[in-house]
Amino acid sequence: MIIVLKSGISEADVDAVCRRIEELGYRPHPIRGEFKTVIGAVGEERGKVDLRILEAMETVESVVPIQQPFKLASREIRPEPSEVRVNGVVIGAKPVVVMAGPCSVESESQVLEVADAVKGAGARILRGGAYKPRTSPYAFQGLKEQGLKYLAEARKRTGLPVVTEVLETESAELVAEYSDILQIGARNIQNFTLLRRVGELGKPVLLKRGMATSIQEFLLSAEYILAAGNPRVILCERGIRTFETSTRFTLDLNAVPVLKKLSHLPVVVDPSHGTGHWDLVAPMAKGAVACGADGLIIEVHPRPEEALSDGPQSLKPSKFAQLMRELRPVAEAVGRSL
Ligand code: PEP
Ligand code: MN
Repeated sequence: MIIVLKSGISEADVDAVCRRIEELGYRPHPIRGEFKTVIGAVGEERGKVDLRILEAMETVESVVPIQQPFKLASREIRPEPSEVRVNGVVIGAKPVVVMAGPCSVESESQVLEVADAVKGAGARILRGGAYKPRTSPYAFQGLKEQGLKYLAEARKRTGLPVVTEVLETESAELVAEYSDILQIGARNIQNFTLLRRVGELGKPVLLKRGMATSIQEFLLSAEYILAAGNPRVILCERGIRTFETSTRFTLDLNAVPVLKKLSHLPVVVDPSHGTGHWDLVAPMAKGAVACGADGLIIEVHPRPEEALSDGPQSLKPSKFAQLMRELRPVAEAVGRSL
């Protein structure tokens, strides 16, 4: 339910309504809009008093049901887009935010070299995996904590915030200590225990769509994180499985405007995993910006032929710099900047 409060009421009044919502057995999530404050009240409804009784409170204007199955993620509760702030970088505002770096952190020198290069080209966030979800148990599984240390070193040197994947609940806290944005990978999109855990950790979360996840399921996964009390969720389209075999996945750019229509959360696109081929990354990155993405996440490696994971889809630093130059006019054409 959305509890719409009357205009001009005090913080104490908002707190009082929140307390009443808790007494009724729901969790209150105050959302301060430009003109109005509303409170999302979520929780299991079975056997509880109807929240519409809150309309009896003097400070409450109305109580409106949310039609969509996802509640806190929906546009109904927050008509204006939300922005996610990470150490001075804002995702969901006018500038398109580019996150770039290697698929896997492989060594200190590799990650520092890439970090310098992507920063020089205009990336605002450094990506790199220390815990890698690999299809084969015999493939490189990541440097784990040592990789996190190298990423933190690269952040210290460049000032770029770091996004890295959290693979399981056991290491979630450790990953949060070293990084700025927690990435939930495509394969964990419905690992509800992990979603709740990153919801509790309170750091921004980059939530990647699963390769066989519908938009509704994707937003319900986002809802787990929001319902756990963490409003800083960034959605990421990274390609889905279809009958098409000429690319690694099918990058679903429809998802960008669809997600923007249904949700207030920022949307980022990953053209590296979405295509699987370095030469398809630039055209799809431009397409993503043109259709309204708030950001991109792109794999960059100094020597893709030597990469321990995802070399075929990784851009060399010079190609990444060229892409950044070509993206600027695309961003400007759709009222954004880079
Ligand atoms: C990655 O970002 O390197 C990755 C493993 O992505 P996804 O979870 O989208 O496959
Ligand atoms: Mn990868």
